[in-house]
Formats: sequence, structure tokens, C-alpha cells
Amino acid sequence: MSSVEKSSTKIIVGVVTALIVAGVLYLARNFLPPFLKWIWSGIVAVWTWLFTSHSVPGWGIVLMAASLILVFIAAIRAVTQKRPVLGPNWRDFQEVDLYGFCWRWDYDSRGNITNLHTFCPDRQCDMQVFPQTDYGMYGRDRTKLKCDRCGHEKTLPDGPRESELKVRLEIQRLLRTGQWAAGNSNAQQAV
Ligand SMILES: [Zn+2]
Repeated sequence: MSSVEKSSTKIIVGVVTALIVAGVLYLARNFLPPFLKWIWSGIVAVWTWLFTSHSVPGWGIVLMAASLILVFIAAIRAVTQKRPVLGPNWRDFQEVDLYGFCWRWDYDSRGNITNLHTFCPDRQCDMQVFPQTDYGMYGRDRTKLKCDRCGHEKTLPDGPRESELKVRLEIQRLLRTGQWAAGNSNAQQAV
């Protein structure tokens, strides 16, 4: 069933429902509670006004008919118009494989990266990993990432702060260029 057919079905169902409700209200008019009775008298007043002759000038009728036709066309357009397909939202990009490990984060209300954490790259393991400072040759800080559960490990050439900054910069780059939508393939090349 096409969207146009679906919309026409909706309109028919709406009109039929309205008629049924009006019919039920009419049949039950003597048993209605005061509030509903008040609504019913309103409907009757509008109905009576509609079917009583009024002294409306010819141009008024033409104007009203034209407005009705315009409204009708606008309504048809509104229901038949294709809704834009929503693409993936960049805020859903919250996980990336980088430097041999998995990184996950949140965004604050302004879109800044928050709560950046490291996880074991093995999705079956999925253990959170705490980056540790590892003193390499000449006392240069490095980052040791080791999963305490499965033993997966890697040493990054920079200290923990620099490593985290590099990950942030890469995430921001992926967001800026739109490459985040292509999955993790681009990010993995940066390893
Ligand atoms: Zn692990």
C-alpha cells in the first residue's frame, strides 16, 4: 500500500469515526451528562446555523469557497508529501576502536565529549581498562593499556593525558568530517 493510499485510508477512517461519534451522541442525547449535553447543544447550534439561509454577499461565498479549496489542497499536500528520512544522529556515535582499544564516551548538552573511557577491544570481554603510566626508555611517559580480564594489552607511545587527548582529537575529526557515519573503518586506520 502506497503512502497516498495509506493517507486516504486514514482520512476515510477519521470521517467514519467522526460520523459514528456524532451518531452515538445523537442517539444518546437524552442520557448525556450535563457537560456532554452542553457540547451537544453546541454541535446542534453550529449545525442549525449551517443549514439556515444567511444574507452573505456573493463575493463572500466566492471567497469562502476559494479558501476552502486552498485549505483542501494544502491538506492533501500535507498528507501526501514524503517525510524526509532521518539519517543517523552524530550523538549516537559514542564508540570507536582506536589505538588497539575501544573508547566510549558521552556528550554534554553543548556536544562536548565527556566521560571518555577505555574498554577491552574484545566485545565478548568488554572489560573497562584504566590507562596507566608506563615509564619507558629515558623516563619518557607512555600509556599502558591492559585488560585485567583477558590480558589483552598495548603500550601507547605517549602518556595517559596525551593519549586521551589524541583520542579526543580523532573523535572530533571524525565528527567534523562526517566519517563517523562510515563506521569504525576510518578510525582503525589511525592505529
Ligand atoms: Zn578483555
